[in-house]
Order: sequence, then C-alpha cells, then structure tokens
Amino acid sequence: MRDLLGGKGAGLAEMTRLGLPVPPGFTITTKASIAYGRSGRFPPGLAKQVDAGIAAIEARSGKRFGDPVHPLLVSVRSGAKFSMPGMMDTVLNLGLNDATVAGLSALTGNERFAHDAHRRLISMFGRIVKGLDGRAFEAILERLKAAAGAPADADLNVDDLRAVTDEFKALYRSEVRAEFPASPKEQLREAIAAVFRSWNGKRAVEYRNFHGIPHDLGTAANVQAMVFGNMGPDSGTGVAFTRDPSSGEKVLYGEYLPNAQGEDVVAGTRNPLKIAQLAEAHPDLYAQLGRVAALLEAHYRDMQDLEFTVERGTLWMLQTRTGKRAARAAVKIAVDMASEGLISREEAVLRVEPAHVVQLLLPQFDEPAKEAARAEGRYLASGLNASPGAAAGVAVFDPDEAERLATQEKRSVVLVRLETSPDDVHGILRAKGVLTARGGATSHAAVVTRGLGIPCVAGCEVLQVDYDAGEFTAGDKVVRRGDFISIDGSTGEVFLGRIETHEPAFDREEDLRTLLGWADAVRRLGVWANADYPRDAIRARAFGAEGIGLCRTEHMFFETDRLPVVHEMILAAPAYRRVSERVRLLRAEASGARTDRRAEVEARLASLEADLADLSRRYVGSLDRLGELQREDFAGILKAMEGLPTIIRLIDPPLHEFLPKYETLLVQVTKLALAKEDPKLLVRAARTDEDRAFLEEIERAGGGDLAKGVEVLLARNEYLLDAVSALRESNPMLGLRGCRLGILFPEITRMQVRAIFEAACRLKRDGVDVHPEIMIPLVGHVNELRHQREALESEAKKVMDREGVQIDYKFGTMVEVPRAALAADEIARHAEFFSFGTNDLTQTTMGYSRDDAEGKFLLDYVQRGILPFNPFQSIDLDGVGQLMRMCVQKGRRTRPDLEVGICGEHGGDPASIEFCNDIGLDYVSCSPFRVPVARLAAAHAKLRATQSIPADR
Ligand code: PEP
Ligand code: MG
Repeated sequence: MRDLLGGKGAGLAEMTRLGLPVPPGFTITTKASIAYGRSGRFPPGLAKQVDAGIAAIEARSGKRFGDPVHPLLVSVRSGAKFSMPGMMDTVLNLGLNDATVAGLSALTGNERFAHDAHRRLISMFGRIVKGLDGRAFEAILERLKAAAGAPADADLNVDDLRAVTDEFKALYRSEVRAEFPASPKEQLREAIAAVFRSWNGKRAVEYRNFHGIPHDLGTAANVQAMVFGNMGPDSGTGVAFTRDPSSGEKVLYGEYLPNAQGEDVVAGTRNPLKIAQLAEAHPDLYAQLGRVAALLEAHYRDMQDLEFTVERGTLWMLQTRTGKRAARAAVKIAVDMASEGLISREEAVLRVEPAHVVQLLLPQFDEPAKEAARAEGRYLASGLNASPGAAAGVAVFDPDEAERLATQEKRSVVLVRLETSPDDVHGILRAKGVLTARGGATSHAAVVTRGLGIPCVAGCEVLQVDYDAGEFTAGDKVVRRGDFISIDGSTGEVFLGRIETHEPAFDREEDLRTLLGWADAVRRLGVWANADYPRDAIRARAFGAEGIGLCRTEHMFFETDRLPVVHEMILAAPAYRRVSERVRLLRAEASGARTDRRAEVEARLASLEADLADLSRRYVGSLDRLGELQREDFAGILKAMEGLPTIIRLIDPPLHEFLPKYETLLVQVTKLALAKEDPKLLVRAARTDEDRAFLEEIERAGGGDLAKGVEVLLARNEYLLDAVSALRESNPMLGLRGCRLGILFPEITRMQVRAIFEAACRLKRDGVDVHPEIMIPLVGHVNELRHQREALESEAKKVMDREGVQIDYKFGTMVEVPRAALAADEIARHAEFFSFGTNDLTQTTMGYSRDDAEGKFLLDYVQRGILPFNPFQSIDLDGVGQLMRMCVQKGRRTRPDLEVGICGEHGGDPASIEFCNDIGLDYVSCSPFRVPVARLAAAHAKLRATQSIPADR
C-alpha cells in the first residue's frame, strides 16, 4: 500500500478505516507522479478522478469547493514511500478567493482568520507552485507590520491583512505575469503538479542520494479537507510519539501549540507546551489522544509518530508513521513490546539496527555540546571514521609522552601521529583516542584501535603534522602539543577543545543484554573474537564471544621487555640458517670424503660448528627464552577461554618489522660516523626532542662518556643497519612473511607450537578444559601447509608424549591469497579448519596495498562511485566474496566437517556477516567490542535468509 499511496497516504487511509477522526480526503498515487515526471502532464483520467475525489469530500463535509456560502478548503501534501521529512512540498488553504473568503468569514464568524488564511495561500502558492522568492513576501509582511505598529503577525487586524493580501497579489502579478488564480479547481490542479515536481527538486534528490532511496518511486499527493488549529484558544496543533523517542519510556511524548497551525510549530517562533500540559488544559482531549495513540500503536505494532490538529475542541488526526528513535529507545521499545506480547522476540531482534548497538556501547559526544563547538568555529577537519566512539584529551605527538602523561599525570590524551606503527602501541594503549594524517580502514592505527575499542580518526589528510615543532595545522588553525582536542571516531570529525562525553557500560545495559540473548537463540553463525591477550579474551567473553578466532601471537613480541630478546633472535636467524646449512653439507661431504681430504674437511667443519654453537646460543637461546614467555601468554589466553575453541596463529609479519626502521638507523649511523672526530658536534646540532633523546641514548651507551658512546653505538647500529638492509624487501607484504617464515626458520614456529602445547598440557593437568587450534597464515600452495603440518604436529606430539597428556586440538590455515581459495580442495586435505583473512585476501585479490590504497586512491574511488564502498571495510561480494563462496564449497567437498570462519576486519561488519551466513561459514570473528553487534547482525542474517526480508539500505 505504501508503494502506491506513500507513507502519509497509507497512514491516512488506515486511520480512516479504523474509524479515527481524519479530515475527509483522497490520495493520488505515486504512479501518477511518475507519469507526470516522464511527460510533464497529468496522466489521462486523473482530472476526472480528482473531481470525483473532491465530490466525495464535499459529500462528507457538507461544504463545496468554491462555494461562496459553505466553502471547502483543501490541502495538498506530498508523501513518498520512505519518509523524506521537509524535502518535498505542501500547499494549504486551496479554494480561497475573494468570494470564498467572505463565506469563510461568515461561516467561522472570524473575519480576521479568513483573511489571514487567504494571505497565507497566496504566499505559499507563489513560493511552492511558482517558485517565487519567499523573502519578497516576508519583506511585504514586515513592512506592513511596521506600518501598522504590529509587533507580531497576530497583531494585524482585518484591514491590515487585506492590505497584505493586495500587495501579495500585486507581487504575484508582476513576478508571474498573470493574476493569482481565483478558480479553486485551477489552484488545486497547479498545486498537485507542484507537489509532483517537488519529487525531483534539488533538496529531495540530494536527500535520496544520501539515504540511498531510489529515484523512481515517485511521491503520492494527499488532497484533504483543511482543518484549522488557529481558530482560537480551543484550537491548536501538535505532534506526539506513542513512546519517548529518546529513552523508549512508555509515555505519550510530544508538543502542543494552542491556537496555531502546523507551519507555526515548524517556524519555532512560539514555545510549544509539553503534551503532558495538554492533560491539564484539556483533559478530555488528552484522554482521546491517548486512546488514539494506543490504538494506532497496537494496530501498527510499533511506536508511532503522530500529527494532529484540534479545531474548536475537535481532534483531527493528520498523520501517523513509524517513529524514528534513538539507539537506547530502539532497544527498550523492542524489548518492552516483545514482553508486552505486541511483537515476537524475532521481530524485536529485527527492530534494532547494528548501528544502534554500536552507539550504545561507545563513549558519545553530547550532541548539543558538539553543535555548540561547531557554532563556536571549533571544527578542525574530517578524516576516515576508523574506529568509532568519541574521545577528548590533550594532543600529544609522541607515544612515550602519551604513556607518561596518561599513567603518571593521569591526563586524558589523544595521540596524534602521521601514521602509527607497532612501536607506538604502548602510547595507543594509554590514549583516549588516536588521530592520524595518513592510512585507511586497515591501517595499523585503525586495526589496533578497533581491536582495543579506542576511538580513531585516520587518514585526516588535511592535517600537516610537524613532530619537531610539536604541532599540527588544519587550514589556518594550529594545534600545539598540550592543546585540547576532541575526535569523533564515529563520524571522522576533529574539533578543537573539549567536548563532553558519555561513557558506556555493557553490564548495565539490561535491555540490550536481553535482546542479544534473543538474537543468540535465533542465529546460526557463531560469534568469536580476535584477541591477543588474556584481558581481551575475558572482555570478549563478557560480550558473549564463543571462541577466539584469531590470536596474533607476534603482538606479544612487541612488549618492551621482550623486544631485545626478539632482536637477538632475528639478528642471529639468517646467519644461523646459512651456517647450519653449510654444516649439514660439510658433514655429508666429510662422511663421503677420501681419507686424504677428510682431515681438511673436518677442520673446516670444526670451525663452522663452533660458529654454529655460538649462533645457536643466540638464536635458539633467545627462542627458548621467548618460548617461556609465550607459554605464559598462551596459558593465560587458553585459561580465559576455558571450554571454548581458541585459534592461535603462528608468526606472520616480516621479521624486519620487529627491528628499528632502516631510515632511522641510516640517519643515526651517518650522524655517529660524522661525530667520531668531534662528538660535541652532536650537542651543537641537537635541535629537536628526537635529537636530544638520541644524545641521551649515546651518553648512556658510553656510561656518561660521549666519545665512548659514539663508538659503542656506531658499532652496534652499523651491525643493525646491515641486518635490517639484508632483511629489507621492496614489497614486504608479499615477501618473507606468513608460513614462508615458518618454512625458512622452522625453529620459530616450532618454539610457538611447543609453548602452546606446554601451556595446554599444564592447564589440562590442572583440570582446565582447553581447545587450542593452530593456524598457519598466508598459505597459497598445499605443500606449504603440508610442510608446516608435519614439522609442527611432530613437535606437538613430542610435548604431549613428554607431558603424558593428550590435547584436543585442530590444525588449520588462513585463506588470505586467491590461490588458497582456488586450491581449497587440495588444501583441505591438510587442514581441519579454514579462516578467511579478508584483510590480506582483499589486498591480494584486488591488487590494492592495504597500507597505501586508502590513503592514496581508494577513498577517492568510493567518493566518485567507482567502487560502491571501501572493500577493506565490507566484503567485495563480486570478487573476494566469490572466491570465498567457492573456497567453502571446494573445501567442504574434500572435508565435509571443515570448520570455516572469518577473522579479517570484515568479521564485525553487518553486511559482511550477512554474506558469511549465506555462504555457510561456521562463525565470524571480530574485535571484542564488536561482538555484541555481530551477535545481532548474525541473527538478522538468519532471519532475513529464512523470511526473505531484504537488508535495509
Ligand atoms: C587478515 O589478513 O585478514 C588477517 C586477519 O591477518 P592480518 O590482518 O594480521 O594480516
Ligand atoms: Mg593477514
């Protein structure tokens, strides 16, 4: 019905059918407006139907259109299928001319009222139908008010209003070059055409573009007998919600303006009464309105937004529609209505949008405070809304300082960086929010902050960040270190100064927890979480996670106390590999060598074995130390996830990511080499904080002696520089990382597996129910997986045999490169589970660098409509999605019970979750803070799939 009659027309028809007091009227369908839009003419037969409609209104009202004694006045209101508030047009008081004004005066006994209605018609018709400038009418009105000494419109008397009408008509005549139409029929025809045209008005088109409403729906036009709220103290107009749209409370909520018309409410010149005050002034009316509201809510089974007019004590309903509501109200209303038996639990689940849940669980800016900031000119810039939520704090550019200010001085800080790296994590952890000038939705800053639930605005390209000066500029505004800024990670906006925020708390959100419980009963998809530390795992469980889908073990390597051990391990690794290979070859050579050569070979072997022993002490020794630390990490996370599956991914990033940056080392080595002759040069040249910090480091290295420090640090950094340049790659994301590392340096992954199984065995002996799953990253060829599986399962077996404990575990792979999806049938022979790493899979399928694309061209692509959305945020269904679908099918053909999930960023995106449900994944895994959203989205996906309800735009 809404397709044809539009929202308003359908509501009016339904209220009429229910026997509610609705002014008589009829609705011209959207079809007519579509036809008018195509041809610029009314479709055949429409004029006749309008005549018949008017005749029906005349019959019901006892008035006649154009009759000088009993004149009927009508309105024409637009009304599309989807509410587009204020975007299209309405014309009121049609049917007035000099003759009917006299009739209206006599009929109402109110001459002033009749003339006021007349002048309103002329200006409204002029503006809406003929496109005249409303300010010209305003100017006339103001001039005549001044001349009459009338402060308000209401102070104009009949003669004043006559003068206004005459001048309005003159303005109309000179602008339109025609008389104002006296014929009510002509007025009506033109008003209907104008309402049709307003569908394609600029405002309406832009609104539809923004909200993704199709442009071919057209609008209906509602022709209705006028009722007047401005006929004295027993008249008025109002709006009411059947429940409070902010809190969801079950009370009639709204406003009432006595002796006024709808347009006076919109104009906001007089303060309306709270609807509760209507109860005191007109108890009968209030009671009647309450009955109508209850009836409509029960009929539509949803909270309604009502418009009504009271004409001389009689209530008239002008509109009913589903009321828009805030996140909190959406949840409360859904839960209450299900508890009241008005709707089912499934319907309640569908009534709440994932975005509502996101909103409820994040710190939010107080909206009026944000508006005030904007009004005060404190808006600075906008970037990518990388991690939602609001944060305010002092701008700090250095992660060490962020950590210090937050922990020691208990200050709120916002960390501002060009972009972030793993070296910044200690600062990020302590920051209220993160702002970066570069990077997109899967940049380091975005991924890490989303994981931690810290608001982040990323890729704010207009910011000019100057670390040395400790400031950034946005246009002509400068923000210095220590200045307060506020960032809104939900919208991407950045403001100067502090904006008040509200803090969330999941355990206090009773209604939300109830609703999510209902969602759990519905959904098929499991909801797991990505968590690297026990504290994240505990939080994830509290949010309802049913497993860990991704524990990125390398994050544990970055802890400050471990980094030196990691460095030692990485620095020794390549040489260890080289020398051990030579030793292996030499041993073979020695055993087969002729007696005269054997002595020489053995001598070389002995010398190499000594080297190997030394390297092994460093390489294997540091691995052992790391293994002990990782065992504790794994024990923590496995214990936190007792009874639930826990997927632990083995090392993934290229090794040089753990070492200092090549560029930094190069600069330092150059400076140190120059300072060898004259160490004081460093003191003289120190300008920035960074220079001074380096100077301190040199002095420390020399035990207070600068010259000695230069010597020591130069030797160390030259060595590091060599190592880093040897590990450096042109395309590290496509280089020596993922399973390739484990194949070339098997000691590292063996150490990790050992640590996992030692932790698991120990816990199991203590009675803890553990379910580790070992995951290999970046597999493309089945042989890669086979190789790792053989090496690692033998390691696992060794541990279990030694400990005398059997662990229930799985061995599986990530699917992150297209080849893995294409060869999924082969790969599934060696994997008990697949997990889609859609961050890498998107990068490798689309050929977009995940670190660069968003900053360079991707957001532009989205803006220009070349891509419909950012594929790093929502799965690219036609490309990446197709690979995923095929991968699931092929994998399960080989292994029907193959467990398949997703752990890329898309695992928390509602649209992607729907797709994951459709292709039969077992679970989605996302950051702990997105678990509640994913629980709801998974239920929506299931309900939509079974009830074929289309996704909301
Ligand atoms: C992925 O690629 O989707 C993934 C989860 O791994 P990472 O982001 O750590 O590369
Ligand atoms: Mg990956």
